[in-house]
Amino acid sequence: MTKGYKIYLLIQTDPFIISFFMTKPQAILASKCPRCRKGNIFTHSALHLTKFAKTNQHCPHCGLRFEREPGFFDGAMYISYAFSVAIVVVFGIGTYQISNIFYQYDPDTWVYLTVIFSAVVLLFRFTFRYSRTLMLYGFGNIKYDPTLQDRTPDELAQ
Ligand SMILES: [Zn+2]
Repeated sequence: MTKGYKIYLLIQTDPFIISFFMTKPQAILASKCPRCRKGNIFTHSALHLTKFAKTNQHCPHCGLRFEREPGFFDGAMYISYAFSVAIVVVFGIGTYQISNIFYQYDPDTWVYLTVIFSAVVLLFRFTFRYSRTLMLYGFGNIKYDPTLQDRTPDELAQ
């Protein structure tokens, strides 16, 4: 270990410096690796038409294996289900409120169904990604390691 590297480690573990790093909610929002909060969990942007669901096997920054055990992400389906229920409730009540309060109009059932179905489909890419991200943060048993912040995968391999 060189001298410069030791100083570097000190800076990295200084609590004052760490406070400038990504907080846990920020890292979850950005779908970053729970261990280094630097590497992306997903290979593409959530807005990518076809590859929005593609998950990295390992963190591109620190090498953490995202699928903690075989079938680890199956549990994310329950979180995804909870998200979908929330979308149904929010968009159902929202449709009722907006049409009744602003337009004094009571929408037919098909209006509700169309709005809710479209919302669930359009937001699926987000419910999918955030349920996997929350699964990792909640059940992955991974501790955040701030010393991994600025180290490249090459340095970690040494
Ligand atoms: Zn990582």
